[in-house]
Amino acid sequence: MVDVLNLINGRHVPADDTLDLISPATGKVYGTVPRTISASDAIMAAHDAASSWRATPVRERSRLMHALADAIESDLLAFSEAESIDNGKPVELARTVDIPRAVANLRWFASSILEFENEHYETGSRAVNDVLHVPVGVIGAISPWNLPLYLFTWKIAPALATGNTVVAKPSELTPVTAWMLGKLAQDVRFPPGVLNIVHGLGPEVGQSIVDDTRVGAVTFTGGTATGRHIAESMAASFRKVSLEMGGKNPTIIFEDADLEPSISTAAAAAFANQGEICLCGERLLVHEDIYEQVVEGLCRQAAALKIGDPLESETQFGALVSSEHRDRVEAMIQRARDEGGQVIQGGSRPDGLPDHCRDGFFLEPTVITGLDMTARTNQEEIFGPVVCVIPFSTEAEAVELANATDYGLSAAIFTSDADRAARVAPAIEAGTVWVNCWLVRDFRVPFGGVKNSGLGREGGDDALRFCTEARTICTATKTMKGSAQGAVPS
Ligand code: NDP
Repeated sequence: MVDVLNLINGRHVPADDTLDLISPATGKVYGTVPRTISASDAIMAAHDAASSWRATPVRERSRLMHALADAIESDLLAFSEAESIDNGKPVELARTVDIPRAVANLRWFASSILEFENEHYETGSRAVNDVLHVPVGVIGAISPWNLPLYLFTWKIAPALATGNTVVAKPSELTPVTAWMLGKLAQDVRFPPGVLNIVHGLGPEVGQSIVDDTRVGAVTFTGGTATGRHIAESMAASFRKVSLEMGGKNPTIIFEDADLEPSISTAAAAAFANQGEICLCGERLLVHEDIYEQVVEGLCRQAAALKIGDPLESETQFGALVSSEHRDRVEAMIQRARDEGGQVIQGGSRPDGLPDHCRDGFFLEPTVITGLDMTARTNQEEIFGPVVCVIPFSTEAEAVELANATDYGLSAAIFTSDADRAARVAPAIEAGTVWVNCWLVRDFRVPFGGVKNSGLGREGGDDALRFCTEARTICTATKTMKGSAQGAVPS
């Protein structure tokens, strides 16, 4: 049994009530997580710690973050197993992607903060301008269950690096690795109150973070409806909000693409992490000349995925995160049938699972055909292992279909024609467009979505700017005694 606790002001403490932790692979209760109603104590601790953390030399903040990253890396296997048990994802995926990426998030922001400098401009001979990047104060970080530690660290790392204190709320479905990180933050001696982690339900403790005006900014990753609600809650007090939300991302394969690698990447884009990645390609647009070949290849790849106990190292495809989520995805597959679609691969709960996984929340990777873009199946995010294949005949039609949803997070296009890539990629309404690849990420590039997929950009300097306020100090030259020519010594 695992009993997760809140981290408030440097101490691990329980809440009055708890929720059960359920393993997606077995369907069994294996621990508890606090059901915190209000984050007020954590916000108070963060508020009290803010001025000394802001005054802590940037090199020391950076050193502590590197120490935390090192500590997580030393515990790679324990973190990977915990993530797999909590979320249902294959342990191998957690070991090779989720946890290393969480370590890299901490390290990248710990290093990049050393280069994030204040700006200095001379206005002719009249004045000097210093632009200081001042921490916001207390930042609320709210993260989802699909990539638990990966997205948790993506949120807290830039906030801590820039000198903010943090009140973070992971999803109550997958809280364990954030709790483990909190214990390591104590071990490496993060000052009390700098990083606070509270657990519980979104509408309760999550909402209490959003509503508290001592929290200067909220960085949120999750569903579009929740993001909209958070933006509305914060609008009246003009506090900053960064929203990374849902997607209905197109993967486009043109007739000139190198077919085998394109199909493999499209399959990965559809089914990686059981399709529970915001960047997954739920709509596969395929040129009519290669449609049959692509559909056949995709189904073959889906059928070959090894489904099983996520803790087995050879498992490639695990369980969905919860019974409720699997019900929701199954209802969407049924709706696709009702809309006239054909489920040509998967669509059912798999046979042949080991006995201890029989009550787990497994669902086969699923391929659907026969639905056009007006179908709700092709408009609403499923966030599960389901891809719908749609034929097109011209490049213009492919772009039109790609843009025909309310979402705009990412897209992937496959072509061997560089001129076509240069025409199509900029025409797609999305924050990120991959050409002949998927999920290749560089820390320096802005990440986010357009339309209903997001507001603002994270990653790189965008994240550091979100976590700070620019303060300009304009000083008339030669009007004072002393050698300094402005707020920042040149
Ligand atoms: P939710 O929006 O349900 O939840 C996200 C987080 O917000 C959870 O911690 C949740 O808590 C919390 N929350 C819920 N209601 C409130 C509230 N009123 N105030 C404050 N916090 C609240 O999303 P899911 O966890 O279901 O994650 C799946 C969604 O996340 C998908 O739509 C997916 O596309 C999106 N996503 C987007 C990404 C991106 O980068 N654009 C990346 C990954 C996922 P609780 O768990 O208790 O409900």
